[in-house]
Amino acid sequence: MKTPASTELLEALLTGAAPIFHPNTGEKIPDDGELSIQLSPSARAGLEAPRYCPICGRRIVVQVRPDGWDAVCSRHGSVDSKYLDR
Ligand SMILES: [Zn+2]
Repeated sequence: MKTPASTELLEALLTGAAPIFHPNTGEKIPDDGELSIQLSPSARAGLEAPRYCPICGRRIVVQVRPDGWDAVCSRHGSVDSKYLDR
């Protein structure tokens, strides 16, 4: 599989940008932000890999390793939990 060149997903997670789609459910988050994002405690702590791309809502490919995880959106690139400073 070709590694996507985009770093958008990594940047979004690093900067803590507000997700457009819920990383656990893939649900679109309204623009008004009225829907509070409810992440599981482990997801909030960055321990749990996202299931959906927070930018486009596509299902992302996640590989969980003993020391963390990496996740790849076909559009927005890959992110490795080691970059999230955990
Ligand atoms: Zn994406």
